[in-house]
This record gives sequence, C-alpha cells and structure tokens, in this order.
Amino acid sequence: MKYDAIIVGAGAAGLFCAFTAGRRGRRVLVLEHNGRPGEKIKVSGGGRCNFTNTHAGPENYLSENPGFCRSALAGFSPQDFLSLVEKHGIACHEKKLGQQFCDGSSGEILSMLLRECSEARVEVRCGCRVQEVRQGFFLKTSGGDFACDSLVIATGGLSFAKLGASCFGHLIARQFGLRVTELRPGLVPLTLPERDLRTFGPVSGVSLPVRVRNAGQSFEEALLVTHRGFSGPAVLQISSYWNNGDAPVFDLLPGKDVSFRRGATSAPAFFSEFWPRRFAEAWCSRHAPQKPLNQWSDRERREVLELARNWPVAFSGTEGYAKAEVTLGGVATAGLSSKTMESRTVRGLHFIGEVVDVTGWLGGYNFQWAWASAHAAGRAI
Ligand SMILES: Cc1cc2nc3c(=O)[nH]c(=O)nc-3n(C[C@H](O)[C@H](O)[C@H](O)COP(=O)(O)OP(=O)(O)OC[C@H]3O[C@@H](n4cnc5c(N)ncnc54)[C@H](O)[C@@H]3O)c2cc1C
Repeated sequence: MKYDAIIVGAGAAGLFCAFTAGRRGRRVLVLEHNGRPGEKIKVSGGGRCNFTNTHAGPENYLSENPGFCRSALAGFSPQDFLSLVEKHGIACHEKKLGQQFCDGSSGEILSMLLRECSEARVEVRCGCRVQEVRQGFFLKTSGGDFACDSLVIATGGLSFAKLGASCFGHLIARQFGLRVTELRPGLVPLTLPERDLRTFGPVSGVSLPVRVRNAGQSFEEALLVTHRGFSGPAVLQISSYWNNGDAPVFDLLPGKDVSFRRGATSAPAFFSEFWPRRFAEAWCSRHAPQKPLNQWSDRERREVLELARNWPVAFSGTEGYAKAEVTLGGVATAGLSSKTMESRTVRGLHFIGEVVDVTGWLGGYNFQWAWASAHAAGRAI
C-alpha cells in the first residue's frame, strides 16, 4: 500500500507530525510497535504532562549544534501549543518557571493528538513492527508491506525501554549514512560512591533547596536524597551536563545570609534551621568537627560554612536509561535541514523529536522540541 508519508513512532513528535501533514491533504500512515500510542505522554509530568515551557529557547537545549533548534522553535512556539490546548478545552496551569501542566491528566494531551489525527484522516497502526526499510521508500513490517514518498523517523530515545523505547531510529540513520552522536542518559538520578551512600542512604526521601553547578551551567532547584544517590530537579538538570569524573558543586544555602550565631549548641542543630534535621545530621557527621559549637575555632566555622556553600560531590555514575527522562545525543544535526528535519543526503527521509541530537532541560522543553520539530517536518512532507 502506498502513502504520501509514513511516520514510524506514535509518540509526541510522530502524532503531531502526522496530523500537521494530514491537514495539508497528505495521505499519512503512522506505525507504532507498542500496542497503544503515546505511552510516554501518559506517564509524563507525573501523570499531568508538562507539555511545554513558555520560556523555551535555544539556550534550554543541549546539542552538538546549539543553534540547530532555533528555526523549528521559532516556527512553532509554546504559545502555539497553548492555543491548541485551549481549542480542545483542556484546563492547564503554570506550575513554576514557565512549566505548563494539565489540571487533569496527561491522557487529555494524548486524546487531543489522536483527535487531531483522526480529523486529518491519519491512519495509526499499533502493534506493527518495521522489519526492513529500503530506499524509495519500501517498508517490510509485521503488518504487511508499505511504500511512501516521505519517511519520518519519530521513534524517540533509549530511555524507559519498558514504554517502547528502541534504537530503531539510530539504526535507520546509520543505514542511510547519517552520523549518530554519542548517546547517554540525561535528566537522570546520579549515584553516590559506597562511602557517601553509607552517610546519605539512610536519609533517603529528604529534600532541600540547593544551587548546583557543573561544566559552566547552574540550576537552583530542589535536591532529593534517594537510596542510591541524589535526584530531584536540581540533580536531574545538572545530570545532563555531568560526565564521568566530574564533581558538581552544591550550594546548600542558596540565597541565604548565614553565619554561626551564639546559642546554637551543635552543627546539626544550627543547620537544621535551613535543612531537614536528618540531612543536617548526616552532612555534619562527615563535614563538621565533632564537638560543641562553642569549642570551634573561627577558622573551623569559616571552613564549614564555606563547604556548605561549595560542596563538591564526586558521583559514581547515573541510574541509567531505565530511570532517565531523556537520551542525550542522537542523529547528528549536521546531516539534517533545520527547516524541514530532512536528511541532507537522502531525499524524503526526516528525523524528528528525541531521536535527533537535541535534548531539552527538565520542565516541558522536550515536548516543545517534539512539537516544533514535528511541525517543521509535517509542513514539508
Ligand atoms: C517518565 C518520563 C516523564 C517525562 N515527562 C516529561 C514532561 O513532563 N515534559 C517534557 O517535556 N518531557 C517529558 N519527558 C520526555 C518526553 O516524554 C520525550 O522527550 C518525548 O516523549 C519525546 O517525543 P518523541 O515523539 O520523540 O518520542 P516518544 O514520545 O518516546 O515516542 C516514540 C514512539 O516510537 C515508538 N517506537 C520506538 N521504536 C519503534 C519501532 N522500532 N517501531 C515502531 N515504533 C517504535 C515508541 O513506542 C514510542 O511510541 C518525560 C520522559 C519520561 C521517560
């Protein structure tokens, strides 16, 4: 069967691209290997889908070419997506820092995309495995053979394999001679070495506001202690800028004017005015003199405060793709048109969404990239 366009992957980018092209009169088929479309959308944003960020700009994305996303983001803005959400009567709110969430559930965003697809006469086939792709394009699948003029790869990254993630997109890119940049987990909890874990593991569950910096980036958000290391928005954000051997530096007293006062009896008692008590006890057990505060020298006071403001943590690794919200790296942008997401060397072959080497910060930026890159391709095919 022949279509104008076949899109592989019925996730955020694939569905959006499908109805954008369908509305333009294109005959579009979407192939999805999962039994249902949009599994990642459903679990996103803790079930409320942080579907965009009103501040999204190129500076919020990591890529070999940080300017690559500029054109697509300008062509379809967060406001454009908000207008679509409003058209469908989906109630939403800003949580913080421009992050837009559904008031209800993520399922509303998925239903909206599927309704748009159905109105644009897009055919979505689930439970269909693509076995072979030949230039032209000809697809051999578990559901039969198909042909198309435009082939759009929207199969996402490697994170959360249990939701259907696969390396299919990277394999197709390589098959057609496109380069794939180094892949690694992003927005992922970081793990602590054995000794630090013995100190902080027992207080897993506590969280506190911090500022963390590494590799020229910094984020002021919450740190969450887990039973394997540190997580929370601050750590997830910096994880995308973390490489083996780095020791991100934490300010545990961000924006606070703190000096030791008379009256506090012990370091944990003093710090528990600013941190959860259990965290203060754990941190002080390793980093503060084990004697009453009134016996500390001026130098000891200075050094402990200095460390609380500039605390380097040498993480041992990440919790990997199983816990990563995104995959850093992907199809190299040098091989793609930033206007249409089409390969510069294989006519009619497009890559959109997370499979491309464009990765957003935490906070709705990744969906905005999915919509914007899908919009760019959907208007071109
Ligand atoms: C737990 C979690 C929460 C998240 N929350 C947010 C959030 O709130 N806000 C935000 O901006 N981002 C969030 N993200 C990131 C966001 O979900 C992704 O960046 C986004 O879904 C990428 O869209 P995509 O269409 O490129 O890929 P996906 O949405 O992953 O879609 C890819 C689709 O392709 C299918 N597929 C894969 N391989 C094949 C194959 N061989 N054949 C056929 N189909 C295939 C998959 O099953 C999937 O349906 C979250 C991610 C996770 C894991």
